[in-house]
Amino acid sequence: MKNKACGVCGYTLSKFYETGMLGCPACYAAFKAEITASLKNIQGGNTRHRGRVPCVTDKEILARYKELLSEMRAAEKGGRLSEAAELSVAVSELKTELKNRGIIL
Ligand SMILES: [Zn+2]
Repeated sequence: MKNKACGVCGYTLSKFYETGMLGCPACYAAFKAEITASLKNIQGGNTRHRGRVPCVTDKEILARYKELLSEMRAAEKGGRLSEAAELSVAVSELKTELKNRGIIL
């Protein structure tokens, strides 16, 4: 398996597997596929009636999305444009994920 690294903080995928944690908000976007896969593994056969990734994760993603969105707006206001651009990538990734899950339209 490739050892990806987050372009923002340099956190690696192997570190994520080791700790189950992420280095920064942008890590989620960088490791999205692997995180989704590992969440499915963790859940195992204990699938919910909705047949999707657990609710907790939906909430986490939604919370992270809101957090990143407000960070992005703060960065824009503060003239930190490269930071805002980085955040907007992560925000749009999360938005797509939320749409896929039917959480937002
Ligand atoms: Zn990161």
